[in-house]
Amino acid sequence: MRVKFWGTRGSIATPGPETVIYGGNTSCVELRCGSDILIFDAGTGLRPLGVELMSEFAGKPITVHLFISHTHWDHIQGFPFFIPAYSPLTTIHVYGSTGQGVPLEKVLRGQMNADYFPVALGDMNATLHVHEFKAKPFEIGEATVNAMYLNHPGMTLGYRVEYAGKSFVYATDNEPYQHTLEHLGQRAETGRDFGQDLDREFVKFIAGADFYIGEAQYTDAEYPERIGWGHSSISATVDVAIEAQVGTLAFFHHDPLHDDKAVEAMADTAQRLITDRGAMLQCFPAREGQVVEL
Ligand SMILES: [Zn+2]
Ligand SMILES: [Zn+2]
Repeated sequence: MRVKFWGTRGSIATPGPETVIYGGNTSCVELRCGSDILIFDAGTGLRPLGVELMSEFAGKPITVHLFISHTHWDHIQGFPFFIPAYSPLTTIHVYGSTGQGVPLEKVLRGQMNADYFPVALGDMNATLHVHEFKAKPFEIGEATVNAMYLNHPGMTLGYRVEYAGKSFVYATDNEPYQHTLEHLGQRAETGRDFGQDLDREFVKFIAGADFYIGEAQYTDAEYPERIGWGHSSISATVDVAIEAQVGTLAFFHHDPLHDDKAVEAMADTAQRLITDRGAMLQCFPAREGQVVEL
């Protein structure tokens, strides 16, 4: 497996001198499993990935498997700018959850409505297959893909891929239920067991992964002001990764207010926590352009 980060930012693209190291493009991760091309999210990082694929395939047919975590702007906004989608030689399989009562295809079509964009989804020349999540594992070539719903406003999926004896997890836009419930106090009494069960399910879902892309949008100081927004603090994500005994955590979905120095300070916080816990976890901030071989 080879992982490449094309967009690591959360919420909105944040280009500029303050973010040159960790990057300004929103969520997009490429995963190669042999010759199969899996892509996680279609944030603005999808645009440069499309340019690279056109040059790599140089007129030959391209097939990609695009997994959408959810359809907030920062996870779909690159799709209309994915140049291979305009070629009749391209096949795109899109996977994701239904919207809230709306089919996934309709949500993707909606962002290309004439009020927002000059070209309609139906005018793209690629063959597009939309697959809605059916709550069971499935195969892409020799890779097995599984998904789980996360705690985030809207219908949000995390994905786990097994290939050639290695495991990869992409789970962004996620808040531990436990944290939400603790902070909500009494009001949460009835949902507490349910929340704990779901947090345990999440630990099982990522357990033992060789490489875990997990979100940590907020510092520990910021998080109390943002409870219920569907994101995690750095400590929460590191703790879950330690509990699940993952090999490496790449923390992801950097907040637009965090410049490169702020992201590095979060990496220091993570390292201190790992040392305090006596854990073996490897941890670094995901950086746009970075390639990791598993
Ligand atoms: Zn997001
Ligand atoms: Zn979101």
